[in-house]
Amino acid sequence: MSASIVVVGGGITGLTAAYRLSKELPEATVTVVEADDRLGGKIRSSTFAGIAGIDEAADAFLTRVPEAMALADELGLGGQLTSPAAGSASVWWNGMHSIPEGLMLGVPTDLRKLARSKLLTWPGKLRAALEPILPATGVGADSVGKLIRKRFGKQVHERLVDPLVGSIYAADTDHFSLDGVPQIFDLASKNRSLLIGGRRMRAKSAAATGPIFATPIAGMAALTDALADALSASGVHLRTHATVASIARAEHGWNVMIEGDDAPLPADAIVLATPARTTAPLVAEISPEASRSLATFHHAGVVMVTLAVSAAEWPPELLCYSGYLVPKPVQRWVTAVSFASSKWSHWQPRDETGQPLVVLRISLGRDGRDLTDRSDDELLAAAVGEVGDHLGLVLHPVEHRLVRWPMAFPQYRPGHAARVAAIETALSADAPGIVVAGASYHGIGIPACIRQANLAARVLAGHVRSMRN
Ligand SMILES: Cc1cc2nc3c(=O)[nH]c(=O)nc-3n(C[C@H](O)[C@H](O)[C@H](O)COP(=O)(O)OP(=O)(O)OC[C@H]3O[C@@H](n4cnc5c(N)ncnc54)[C@H](O)[C@@H]3O)c2cc1C
Repeated sequence: MSASIVVVGGGITGLTAAYRLSKELPEATVTVVEADDRLGGKIRSSTFAGIAGIDEAADAFLTRVPEAMALADELGLGGQLTSPAAGSASVWWNGMHSIPEGLMLGVPTDLRKLARSKLLTWPGKLRAALEPILPATGVGADSVGKLIRKRFGKQVHERLVDPLVGSIYAADTDHFSLDGVPQIFDLASKNRSLLIGGRRMRAKSAAATGPIFATPIAGMAALTDALADALSASGVHLRTHATVASIARAEHGWNVMIEGDDAPLPADAIVLATPARTTAPLVAEISPEASRSLATFHHAGVVMVTLAVSAAEWPPELLCYSGYLVPKPVQRWVTAVSFASSKWSHWQPRDETGQPLVVLRISLGRDGRDLTDRSDDELLAAAVGEVGDHLGLVLHPVEHRLVRWPMAFPQYRPGHAARVAAIETALSADAPGIVVAGASYHGIGIPACIRQANLAARVLAGHVRSMRN
């Protein structure tokens, strides 16, 4: 009898894991079980202001972590990718300030360039300038915020590193594990001075050619759609509107209980590609220790507001900017704004009279400030009002879209790596053939999710083969 493998969760991780499993074990029956009525999870694109494929969440993936580029190539999307137009990002700190050059995720690597910025005061710059002579700090503190304040002082943390890292992960870096930000973790673990180590690292990465980010021209969902098409073509069962309620031990392998089904779905192996908090109850019966730890994870909710405004109302001096970040001390609800039609040259909408529009993607909420339960009116008013205040404009959106992403970003609390290692150890002891993968564990970005899916598929293919022998 052919092996039966169940993948719980049809986001990028689950779909990629199913894709790899269908290649590794072509004779196995692979089923993806997804609670939502669509596949793709936190990747979704839709038509906005007449442009198809404007992303509702992720709008690009890193190219230097190679797994997403490799998958896009493999799925035939390699020739349909584009990269952001050049444009500088800013920080709003009682006025707009270009982000100084020579930063690595906000970490200064060039004091002369930092000195030219008005974002930091002179005492702030002088404190940062002490960093190269400080003794080693190490990574023991395991909080991005703690490390950066110790090394560079308060201003570099609150005006540079926290807004940059915070906007990527919706994080409060005082409660975010260093190992969740591999670039900073590497810098801190391999160098006494982050500034000197960062300068060396930048020099090395300057030799790497090509854009840092890429995205399918048709929107990020082109990636998950292409995966779903490939899965259908290779006979993988795709079940949407199907919520896994629990997993129980069976005589041989596992029984996956799906809400509303009369009979369980038998499985020899299972990938749990669901957020940690939702994974906890699924394994409560079979691995109580893993379940207890998964239940302690935090996930931050965010809201993405997309606006289209008349280009005639848009100040020409803003056209060279790709957007801005809002540091926590001056933050209300808006945390980051992307001038999306400047960032993406293929997003150039026009109104019904043919006049050009400007598209803004505005992020609201973060760890410690979940706004997903606020009303549409409140959220829209905050987006329009705060961005208008920042830019000194009165915005008159001709179209808007509001998308809530509850539990959007797992928050890697200090001690994250050890916590995940313990969960994996407990699961492999209690529930051989069941693995967890996805944004909650070894990296939140799309390439990291794909890498975890590749690994999960390899591990489970090995497990299934060993069962046969
Ligand atoms: C607003 C936003 C912007 C982002 N921007 C970027 C970006 O620009 N670049 C980047 O690289 N990353 C970005 N990310 C992060 C990245 O998109 C996500 O980390 C990644 O898509 C998560 O994929 P996943 O498959 O691990 O999880 P998910 O996409 O969360 O998929 C998990 C799936 O499991 C399903 N599920 C849950 N419980 C059950 C159950 N009991 N039974 C069955 N199914 C279940 C869910 O419905 C969901 O579809 C962004 C994320 C958000 C929210």
